[in-house]
Amino acid sequence: MNVLPILLELQGIHENLRTIQRDLTAFPPDMATLDAELKAITKRQESASKELADARAKDESLDGELKLAERLQEHAKIAVKQSTHKVQYTAAIRELDDRERQKAAVARPLKEIRSRISALEKETAELEARHLQVRAQFDELHQIFLSEHENQVAARDLQQLRRSELEASLEPAALSRFNKLILQRQGRAVVPVDNGNCGGCRTKLRIPLLAQLREQGTIPCEFCQRVLFIPPKQ
Ligand SMILES: [Zn+2]
Repeated sequence: MNVLPILLELQGIHENLRTIQRDLTAFPPDMATLDAELKAITKRQESASKELADARAKDESLDGELKLAERLQEHAKIAVKQSTHKVQYTAAIRELDDRERQKAAVARPLKEIRSRISALEKETAELEARHLQVRAQFDELHQIFLSEHENQVAARDLQQLRRSELEASLEPAALSRFNKLILQRQGRAVVPVDNGNCGGCRTKLRIPLLAQLREQGTIPCEFCQRVLFIPPKQ
């Protein structure tokens, strides 16, 4: 099967879709502002949610440490009550002081992390509300924008439909090679041979390769892998 016409048409469709996409994302200033705000909110939501997860993990581990410190403090208190000799009592009091200091050393960062958590929770709720609000404003303008660009929308739908048809007629491996080239070679996956050179990377083709190309219709460039073809004589 000669896939050249299919590949050339597909390449044209990719180019058309890029142009249409440019038009459909060239928002007027009010929409562009909302779009930028949406992106900024989403970014902050992601980092706040990560920060919150970290803070909650920290909270859990500090909470465990505090409970342990409290148990040790209780033991120390009992030891003070139960001491009968002066020497024993002094040692027990010192032990209790140490335990109290240890507890305070955990309680302080725990309090800080809890206030950080509640601040983050508040911010997350505010971001969520703002996101919904901006999204609704953007969507409303976007509907109007798309109806003003209905020609481009219709053209995009047709081009996408045709693209699916063409893609279905290619071998999966050939299609995936082509799509990769479209991405890597800025949309120029299929290029004509120009005066014995690859029309993409300008490398001079070897004579046997040219002969093979004449026979097969297409061949990948040995250097840039683009699909080469011989253009019809002008
Ligand atoms: Zn090349």
